[in-house]
Amino acid sequence: MDSVGVAAATPEARPGPAWQSKCPWGAPSTTSISCSLADVMSEQLAKELQLEEENAAFPEVVAAAEGPFITGENIDTSSDLMLAQMLQMEFDREYDAQLRREEKKINGDSKVSISFENYRKVHPYDSDSSEDEVDWQDTRHDPYRADKPTTTPRRGFIGKGKDITTKHDEVVCGRKNTARMENFAPEFQVGDGIGMDLKLSNQVFNALKQHAYSEERRSARLHEKKEHSTAEKAVDPKTRLLLYKMVNSGMLETITGCISTGKESVVFHAYGGSATEDKVIPPECAIKVFKTTLNEFKNRDKYIKDDYRFKDRFSKLNPRKIIRMWAEKEMHNLTRMQNAGIPCPQVVILKKHVLVMSFIGQDQVPAPKLKDVTLSSEDMKKAYYQILNMMQQLYRECNLVHADLSEYNMLWHDGKVWLIDVSQSVEPTHPHGLEFLFRDCRNVSQFFQKGGVAEALNERELFNAVSGLNITADNEVDFQAEIEALEKMNEDHVQNHGKKLSTFSSDGDPPIYDE
Ligand code: ADP
Ligand code: MN
Repeated sequence: MDSVGVAAATPEARPGPAWQSKCPWGAPSTTSISCSLADVMSEQLAKELQLEEENAAFPEVVAAAEGPFITGENIDTSSDLMLAQMLQMEFDREYDAQLRREEKKINGDSKVSISFENYRKVHPYDSDSSEDEVDWQDTRHDPYRADKPTTTPRRGFIGKGKDITTKHDEVVCGRKNTARMENFAPEFQVGDGIGMDLKLSNQVFNALKQHAYSEERRSARLHEKKEHSTAEKAVDPKTRLLLYKMVNSGMLETITGCISTGKESVVFHAYGGSATEDKVIPPECAIKVFKTTLNEFKNRDKYIKDDYRFKDRFSKLNPRKIIRMWAEKEMHNLTRMQNAGIPCPQVVILKKHVLVMSFIGQDQVPAPKLKDVTLSSEDMKKAYYQILNMMQQLYRECNLVHADLSEYNMLWHDGKVWLIDVSQSVEPTHPHGLEFLFRDCRNVSQFFQKGGVAEALNERELFNAVSGLNITADNEVDFQAEIEALEKMNEDHVQNHGKKLSTFSSDGDPPIYDE
């Protein structure tokens, strides 16, 4: 950041329009070019100088589609947007420092202090901590709460005899009103009346207050609009900056481009950077960015809300944090699968709503989904048995149900099937866990039966083979009903014992309790 030469610039006294008094990007460097009179008159030279100047002011923009998306080398000059964001970040940080100084100056040793906390501009992504965001629902600190005014005693007057002053005293009120202007937002210019003994009448003060508040609301509205429009795009500025940081830190070498845009996530390909002390970065990575457009996740609430691992946290969280939980969930589930030896992406790092994992594929080409690949009947059969095996491992060793298993979320790579997309995966004792498993089984058995694998079990047989349960119903409807009855039994058990069974068991083994 220092390399762009903004760190040294400090805005002047008031936190408002600092750019008016001093350029936050530092003084422009003036280069004096000495030349002869002939040179000065030369049209050719004039053109050249002009060109030079233009080039310096507007560095050439590399088209994102052609060149690499983000690389260590081109980052500083290729993206005007990124540059602007970095500058903005730097500017905001200085603004906040100034705000703190201002706050200190105003509060001094006073017992009653005011806070500008809500006017701070430092962005949540400007920190590596994941717990740095101000919680939306955190109302403990409310800067809009009026400060206690210096009070007139209960009896409503002070002094004695002819020196008596009541709370309605014009002079006292006027001074109080002037002091109250400090409660307006700092960007609302109230002038410098200190030492002038200004007295504002109630009427003037109220008019000013109204105006200050409506200005504040107007700027909040504008801000809101801006936030919405960025959320519509695939990657918002916050995410871009997170990605930029990964490249800048050397963890990633280059982010080459997007390999998938889904409703809930965008996936990028990247070349891995240098290894750190505790981590080996794979040569190629996939970056899954969970979309921060909040609406998309609403219909997936049930997966996480009823997952007891996340239950306690769910109700306390704001939507942005819930999205981070999806990413976190995918990370945990992938780790479990990795430990069980199931072929799946290996987790590299999780940063907020961005999950970096190993790339399944080669040379930027992602492995094809099972639905897109034409396999020989031999490979098809091999894939089927592998999946049967993986589903059992997933259930028994990882204590997980994929919950979105289909030919869309299985990749064919290196002669075998790889499982991906496990953010929605749940434990089998999730209130709908067995239903999800049954749906997975239906997808898998239909795909392989259609694909000509004669040995493929039907969905009910597959369900029993994976879960170890022995549901005997010979038709779909009854089977489904038995599944739901089992789920209900489990829920009742939770109600009565306050604890979940970690596995469904039909073989008389004692139930195993989790954690
Ligand atoms: P979504 O929720 O959008 O379906 P997925 O995790 O299924 O998210 O990823 C979307 C697509 O991105 C996948 O279908 C696959 O083509 C690609 N993809 C995801 N992760 C990887 C990975 N680790 N390696 C290669 N391709 C991947
Ligand atoms: Mn998917």
